[in-house]
Amino acid sequence: MPLDIVPTVCPHDCPSACALEVERIDGRRLGRVRGAASQSYTRGVVCAKVARYAERQHHPGRLSQPLRRIGEKGAGLNAFRPVSWDAALDEVAEELTRAVQRHGSETVWPYYYAGTMGLVQRDSINRLRHVMRYSREDLTICNALSDAGWLAGVGAKRGVDGREIAKSDLIVVWGGNPVSTQVNVMTHIATARRERGARLVVVDPYRTATAARADLHLAPLPGTDGALACAVMHVLFKEGYADRGYMMRYTDDPEGLEAHLATRDPTWAAGITGLSQDEIVGFARLYGRAKRSYIRVGYGFSRSRNGSAQLFAVSCLPAVTGAWAYEGGGALYSNLGLVALDHTLIEGLDRLDPSIRMLDQSRIGPVLTGDPRDLGNGPPVSALFVQNTNPMVVAPESRLVHRGFARPDLFVCVHEQFMAETAAMADIVLPATTFLEHDDIYLGGAHTYLQLGRAVLPPYAECRSNHDVINGLAERLGARHPGFVMSATELIDRTLQLSGLPNVESFPHGGRLDCCPSFATGHFLDGFPQTDKRFHFRPDWQAIGPEYARLPAFPDHVEAIDDGDPERPFRLVAAPSRSFLNTSFNNTPSGVAREGRPTALVHPEVLACLRLADGDRVRIGNQRGSLVVRARGASGMQKRVVIVEGLWPNHAFEEGIGINLLTSADPGLPRGGAVFHDTSVWLRPA
Ligand code: SF4
Repeated sequence: MPLDIVPTVCPHDCPSACALEVERIDGRRLGRVRGAASQSYTRGVVCAKVARYAERQHHPGRLSQPLRRIGEKGAGLNAFRPVSWDAALDEVAEELTRAVQRHGSETVWPYYYAGTMGLVQRDSINRLRHVMRYSREDLTICNALSDAGWLAGVGAKRGVDGREIAKSDLIVVWGGNPVSTQVNVMTHIATARRERGARLVVVDPYRTATAARADLHLAPLPGTDGALACAVMHVLFKEGYADRGYMMRYTDDPEGLEAHLATRDPTWAAGITGLSQDEIVGFARLYGRAKRSYIRVGYGFSRSRNGSAQLFAVSCLPAVTGAWAYEGGGALYSNLGLVALDHTLIEGLDRLDPSIRMLDQSRIGPVLTGDPRDLGNGPPVSALFVQNTNPMVVAPESRLVHRGFARPDLFVCVHEQFMAETAAMADIVLPATTFLEHDDIYLGGAHTYLQLGRAVLPPYAECRSNHDVINGLAERLGARHPGFVMSATELIDRTLQLSGLPNVESFPHGGRLDCCPSFATGHFLDGFPQTDKRFHFRPDWQAIGPEYARLPAFPDHVEAIDDGDPERPFRLVAAPSRSFLNTSFNNTPSGVAREGRPTALVHPEVLACLRLADGDRVRIGNQRGSLVVRARGASGMQKRVVIVEGLWPNHAFEEGIGINLLTSADPGLPRGGAVFHDTSVWLRPA
């Protein structure tokens, strides 16, 4: 059986954007998937999910042809019957046109997110949006809060090269669980531990697989990381670990910061975080003593109403010690702002009219149910075109989302790889290619490479790429833009040229261009990307979002969180599991087998108080509803914390609705952002 090995790139919503080497059998089937050893961040390692990608690629549940719904919404495949591509696209175009004739162009909401991170297949939907003047989408569900927090201090979405972790003496993984979600980080941490005796600290509200491997695990209450960071800085100033020379040269107001932190001592922070003063001081000293200290900033602690303030506070630490100046020192949140790509052609930005309304993707429930806070004086959303996301499961306040999708007057088209929950609510479902079947270009949040991923397999059955479907709709809708008549490769090629980068033909062999800046730029020694070239301890929140007045002048604990009350004393964190990536992979047999069933991790003493044992049913609820999962005792977290890892499909829950029933669609401060880990709940035996 002929077998060859071909390079490509992992497209999933994960900062690692791994360079892959895939086994191709007979030119048609996928064998094993490995990390490319020659890409110096991936270093030959990929997660188990993608190593077994054949399970997903050749899954019997993959959609194979366009479908029109003839039965009940939500009933699944049996409620659909096949139609031709022409008939399906004609019908979608007619429905969108009819909706516009009735309500105006803003009634159509193209809705997408990061089911693929490839720029062409992910973002081409915006080209159609802008040319047709459909409602805009505020992409808040993942990184709005974390971006705001990072930009507040640093000024641009980049940080120290992740490969430098291997040169660190102290690595702090703050609010992330790379063993489960970004395995490559652990490769570089292992090198630092092996070659330098580096220490690993993990800050996370529960004992994740990463925390279990740490030298020190701090488990603050969710939403209190900002207080921890402030108390650490208090100790750094008080005990002489602050680098005043560095701060004078590279930061905006070190004296103001020191005066502000005078009252943010470990006693103050212990009362907020639930950590002991000894834990806080011990961590501060560990951090202060290591000049080569590297903070790998995760997303977890930003998913809170105060998330941007929390992330900002953590980003201040290396500016106080001056760790930014050292090899292996500093911090990284994301490098997605490193390469200045010109997105105009792919996204049709030359046709963007900023006066067209913007709807918050995290508030799709309130939007679809007509909340005037979202719709204002504008029309209802009466037509949705969905790509690369599954809001029936992943969006907060699921009850509203489900009610919205159930509206009989809402037309929905979903372009998907599987009959996911959102597809099951659609009128028309279109079958989508996987990354192995189309061309694209990828940035990486965790590294410095720009990578080309080529199609390595023919499309399955009648599947079409997002780009092809967008172009097919554009033709029927009369939308005109150069991007609609280019192939994906032509779009990539022209985008590279417009960005001043090597075009496709001259791209480095293997499709990987390392865009790593110089040491001075990477470490901000030639200035931070702020107008005054300094790191800002006193951020300009007003420039970042409209709710700036609710955020403090300096890093601080912001009490905006849903901290509960006697009725709802517990704090729920809906954390990512190891085997699923949002709802991607939650239907692959090996992943489901490994994860078992929806489970709440509960402190053993709380479990005993509830007279529950491992495996018993527990009901979790709040003002938005309640659901039943199995309980499991877990130490290594505070008694008020409850963890449910996922995301499981809705049908995995007894009452057919998943964990986002409990999460809120409230926007985080100061410019929105989903607050998935900021949820107070009650627990009862079920
Ligand atoms: S670690 Fe992330 S980028 Fe790498 S293969 Fe897994 S999902 Fe893809």
